Amino acid sequence: MKYICQSANLIESVFMVILLFFVSVRVFAQSDIMTFNEYEPISTLVVEEHLLTSAKFPFIDIHSHQPSMTDQDLDELIKNMDSLNMKIMINLSGRWGNYFQSNIDNIERKKLSNRIVVFSNIDFRNFGSDGWTEAWVEQIKIDHAKGAMGLKIFKELGMTHKDESGKRIQINDPRLGPIWEICGELGMPVLIHSGAPSSFWKPFDEKNERWLEMYTHKDRNYANTNLPLWEQIIQEQHDMFSKHPKTIFINAHLGWFGNNLEKLGQLLNDIPNMYVEFGAVIAELGRQPKTARQFFDRYQDRILFGKDSWVPAEYMTYFRVLETEDEYFPYHKKYHAFWRMYGMGLSDQILKKIYYKNALKILPGIDKTQFPD
Ligand SMILES: [Zn+2]
Repeated sequence: MKYICQSANLIESVFMVILLFFVSVRVFAQSDIMTFNEYEPISTLVVEEHLLTSAKFPFIDIHSHQPSMTDQDLDELIKNMDSLNMKIMINLSGRWGNYFQSNIDNIERKKLSNRIVVFSNIDFRNFGSDGWTEAWVEQIKIDHAKGAMGLKIFKELGMTHKDESGKRIQINDPRLGPIWEICGELGMPVLIHSGAPSSFWKPFDEKNERWLEMYTHKDRNYANTNLPLWEQIIQEQHDMFSKHPKTIFINAHLGWFGNNLEKLGQLLNDIPNMYVEFGAVIAELGRQPKTARQFFDRYQDRILFGKDSWVPAEYMTYFRVLETEDEYFPYHKKYHAFWRMYGMGLSDQILKKIYYKNALKILPGIDKTQFPD
C-alpha cells in the first residue's frame, strides 16, 4: 500500500515538472508576440505629404446620415461642413410623413435649404398586404412635394426584410416596381445600398481580407447564416436597375465592386441609369491608384462623392486619395483597411465632376449658382 502511494507521488511530481516546463516555454514565447490589432508600426518613409483638411472645390456629399435632423443644432453642422468646403450635405435618413416634414422645418427655420438636402425612405413593414405599394407610391409623392429630392433604400432590402408571408423580399420583386417608376417620373434618384462586402460571406479565417472587421463586429460574419448568397443579392439589384431604365439609381459603396473596377466598369456600360458613389470604400481606390485613375477617366460622368458616416476628420483621407499623389499614407479605420493609401491625383476637370457637377446633373432642384463652372 505504501509502495503504491509513493509511486503515485512520484508520477505526480514528474508530471508537475513537465507541465511547468511547457508553461514557461509558452510564456517566454508569448512575450515577443502581439495581436494583429496591436501592430501599428510608425512609417519611416519620408515623402511629400499633403494633409488636406478641406476639398479643393466646393462639394456635395451624396451619402450622409443625420438621423436626428428634426431637432439637431444645425449651426454646428454647418460650421463643420464649411471647414471641409462641403457646400451641400445630402441627409439620407429623412424617413417619411410627419417625421420627414420635421427635418425640412428645422432646415427652413435656419434658412439652410441651400445647404442641406434630404432624401426620404420607405417602411417595408406589411409589405405584400393589400394596398401597400399604392400607399407608398402616394407617400413618396407627398414627401417629394415637401422637399424630398431622392429616395434612400437601406441594405435590409434583399437581406432581412420579409413580406407578409415571411418570405425574404427580393430587390427585384415586381411589387416594388411602381416605387422605382414613380421615382423616375418625379426625377428622384434612388440611392440604394444592397448587400455588404463579399468577404463577409467567406470563411472567417486568416485568408479573409475583412477578418478584423468580422472580429470586431461579430454580426458581420454571414457565412453559415440563412442570408442569401452575396451573388444572389447583387444580381437582384442589377436586374432591378435594368428593369427600370427611366429611374436613376445611385449604387452605394461602388456596389461592392471597388475591388474589381473592371467588372464595375462593365456594369456601368450595361446599366446606363446606374451611378456609383464611394462612401466607406475609398480604401479600395487608395490601394490601386493607377487602375482607379483610369476608371475615373473612363467613368468620370457616373461617379459621385459620398462618405457615409459623419466624422469630419475622416474626410481628409478622401481628399488625399482623390486630389493628391501622396504615397503610403494611413487610412483612418484599420478594420476597413490594414493597408496604406496612394493618391490618384485627379485633374481639376474630373474633380469638379465628382465633387459637384454629376450630382447637380441628377438633382436639378439644387441651386447651381453656388458652384463654379
Ligand atoms: Zn449609408
